[in-house]
Amino acid sequence: MPSHVITLANGITMPTLGQGTWFMGESSSSRKDEIAALQKGIDLGMTLIDTAEMYASGGAEKVAGEAIAGRRDKVFLVSKVLPGNASRKGTIAAFERSLKRLGTDYIDLYLLHWRGGYPLDETFDAMERLLDAGKIRAYGVSNFDLDDMQEASQYDRGHICVNQVLYNLASRGIEWDLLGWLRKRNVAVMAYSPLYQTRLLKSPGLKRMAEELSITPAQLALAWLLHQGTIPIPKSSSVKRVEENRKAWDIVLEPEILGKLDGIFPPPDHKMPLDVL
Ligand code: NAP
Repeated sequence: MPSHVITLANGITMPTLGQGTWFMGESSSSRKDEIAALQKGIDLGMTLIDTAEMYASGGAEKVAGEAIAGRRDKVFLVSKVLPGNASRKGTIAAFERSLKRLGTDYIDLYLLHWRGGYPLDETFDAMERLLDAGKIRAYGVSNFDLDDMQEASQYDRGHICVNQVLYNLASRGIEWDLLGWLRKRNVAVMAYSPLYQTRLLKSPGLKRMAEELSITPAQLALAWLLHQGTIPIPKSSSVKRVEENRKAWDIVLEPEILGKLDGIFPPPDHKMPLDVL
């Protein structure tokens, strides 16, 4: 059975299946459902909540804040600083704004959303200050390809714990070189858009395989990412679909099934630029 927790390079533990929040907080009519879905996920053990100052211009952080109110200690909270804010001072200021929206006094994992114009050493200096002050428990990056990771490793004092990248059965480019590099250095891989924002679920091959296993296409897509040792963070505003996604933790994929999946969704045979959304 896939493990429910992973120990990061700095010794802290994080759930291996989380919940995304992109597109939450955009409309007041769906707010109740979004909060109910996140809370259901927390109750079911998907206590990792991934958000960002970018999502709904802070609106998603507010939804996440409301969902975790009264249960902060159960949650592993991830948020991200926009590259345009990621200067030495700007990172701290953006972080404090995120704290307010989230209604908490710490964030478990703080990520640089993608590479921007500020030098990495500035951003990481700010992350180190937050770490020293106990305001974050770990930091990392997102959308970093191999060359970015190699450069980042010159400035992060070995402290980058996570790289959050687009990864799913239909987008396996990171398996060429990035995934192995990260594994070797114990940098955990969070898989964003694990359902390719539902595009993957329309694949006839995935549907056929899921039917064969008497599970849903979403469960198969998530179970495969768990098997790969990555941390999928599917977003759902539906309690029913959160319950469905949670069951991915109970699925073991036998080598024969993995082989068939490789046939339908072949691994890369050359270097591809990092896929992003
Ligand atoms: P995703 O999780 O692949 O797909 C989300 C979509 O799938 C939603 O439309 C959701 O609809 C639907 N869905 C969820 N569970 C389902 C199920 N069991 N069956 C059918 N449909 C299902 O896409 P994502 O939101 O782009 O990625 C997940 C999270 O990763 C984001 O929310 C965000 O936190 C993070 N992310 C990070 C970056 C980055 O640059 N670091 C980029 C993209 C995403 P309902 O809500 O109606 O269920």
